[in-house]
Amino acid sequence: MGAAARLKQALCLAFGLALSAQALAAEYRVVQGDVVALDAESKAKPTVHAFGTDWPVRALERGRWRSWIGVDIAARPGRHEVQWRLSGKLLRRDVLIVQQRKVRVSRITVPRQMARFDAATLARIRREAQTIRNCWRKALSQPAASFGFVRMPLAHYRVSTPFGARRIVNGQRRAPHAGVDLAAPLGTPVIAPAAGWVALVLDGYLTGKTICIAHGDGLASVFMHLKRVDLAPEERVRAGERIGTVGQSGRATGPHLHWGVIFRGKRVDPLARWNPAR
Ligand SMILES: [Zn+2]
Repeated sequence: MGAAARLKQALCLAFGLALSAQALAAEYRVVQGDVVALDAESKAKPTVHAFGTDWPVRALERGRWRSWIGVDIAARPGRHEVQWRLSGKLLRRDVLIVQQRKVRVSRITVPRQMARFDAATLARIRREAQTIRNCWRKALSQPAASFGFVRMPLAHYRVSTPFGARRIVNGQRRAPHAGVDLAAPLGTPVIAPAAGWVALVLDGYLTGKTICIAHGDGLASVFMHLKRVDLAPEERVRAGERIGTVGQSGRATGPHLHWGVIFRGKRVDPLARWNPAR
């Protein structure tokens, strides 16, 4: 590139930055539980902030950068700002317009002791839920091998309860389903959908035998109701490696794998497409 071309590019870049610092860059419609990739131009690596947290950024080519943002299953419908910053200065603002997810309502009936809890059990359930929801913090500084998943955790499955389903347990309305239930026979091998580290293994009151794999960059997979867990905390996991088997431990009406994905604390759809926003 000649000096003139470089100067022109620098001017365009400077002008572009000045414009975008004032103007709104773009608006995108997203649905609760989506993961969306946004691109921007910047002369150096920017930071991206949305939904009260920072999001990973990777270099594309020629001064372009991509960030992935998770929209929590319970994100407030409406407008949410995405801020791109360089050295603390606002570079660009995008807006995500969050829409409510259209979901089905599932009614399940479980034994009384699995739907009504004494204070101690309730405290345990809440503590376990909190521990699981925080497992993404492990290996946060490690880069994820990929954004999105390279394979499914089961070779064969049927989706028995989709992500976001509204559940009525013994006639009482519960929180939306923060994962996808994949029905498969007892003992079916569960494999890691991407590489990572074992962030957590626990035997939960509702979740049964549970394992969390942190994939890096604040992305984590949680598998529940396992029959067996084959790995120990801190172990490294390769994509496709066996991590346990399908069971029905905890509160489960039949053998299935609950797969939840947590991205920087946001509960997102494991089957999300991770595509650039349009
Ligand atoms: Zn589930």
